[in-house]
Amino acid sequence: MAITGGVSVIGAGTMGNGIAHVFAQAGFKVTIVDVSLSQLDRAVATIKKNLDRQVAKASITEEKKTTTLSNITTQTNMIEGVKNAGLVVEAATENIELKLQIFEELDKYAPKETILATNTSSISITKIAAVTGRAGKVIGMHFMNPVPVMKLVEIINGYATSKEVTATIVELSKQLGKVPCVVNDYPGFIANRILMPMINEAIYSLYESVAGVEEIDTVMKLGMAHPMGPLQLADFIGLDVCLSILHVLHDGFGNPKYAPCPLLVNMVAAGKLGVKSGEGFYTYRAGSKELVVSEGFK
Ligand code: NAD
Repeated sequence: MAITGGVSVIGAGTMGNGIAHVFAQAGFKVTIVDVSLSQLDRAVATIKKNLDRQVAKASITEEKKTTTLSNITTQTNMIEGVKNAGLVVEAATENIELKLQIFEELDKYAPKETILATNTSSISITKIAAVTGRAGKVIGMHFMNPVPVMKLVEIINGYATSKEVTATIVELSKQLGKVPCVVNDYPGFIANRILMPMINEAIYSLYESVAGVEEIDTVMKLGMAHPMGPLQLADFIGLDVCLSILHVLHDGFGNPKYAPCPLLVNMVAAGKLGVKSGEGFYTYRAGSKELVVSEGFK
């Protein structure tokens, strides 16, 4: 089943702009919808900057950049933003009440045959689907950050997702040049169920003074061939995001092994969120992702 109509991306943040970028580059007409006009402007500026980088590296032509940009429009009105969509990919803030409200609206305003996908990192697809009148057409389409670079799309079947919809999203992901991987809807799916306990254990190792930030990250980079250490990765993901995913795992499985480390809880309470706040396990100079190890963590 091919999708008929354009692609609407809900949320113009870190993930929304990347998702819009890859669909537009693959030739789809994309509408980005956000409640914030400044976020929409920032998203288009980011896409332009990333396309310029692709042109500079000769991975796309100047002409491809122009057609990609011409495939993108923005919208603050949800009704207008989804009325012609064949596929909606929701990438708004990771908050269950917000997502349930958005999916109620999407169900009302998007055409009846439209597939409704969510890029959620951890919220139950089945719960989201249950607020719509089309649970068979609701699915998880979990892109990785940065979307234009990362190959994986974790596709999550909710309890009621139809086989036909899964097959459509698998094919679509391939059309975007991605590698789809289909999993079922349990807390954290696969990516975060495995990643977050590793990050939490790295934070516990620091909390218990087993080693410093650099030592922990170096062991995992050089010992396990990870391109980035777990503490640096946590800073990139956002420590608030890591904490909220650990809460989903802890609540969802009722198993104390997922309890977030008190150091992570404290850092989030103190506003140390990683790259986006300028400081987490490392500090980041404004406009740069360069690492400086915090004195307090040595
Ligand atoms: P973000 O905070 O950068 O962006 C969220 C955007 O949603 C903001 O622009 C905000 O204005 C917008 N928004 C809020 N309410 C809205 C509404 N009612 N309608 C339309 N837009 C609304 O968040 P992000 O990091 O891009 O994450 C988005 C989703 O992607 C989350 O579900 C997150 O779990 C998931 N995700 C994030 C990452 C990551 O590394 N950041 C990776 C994979 C998946």
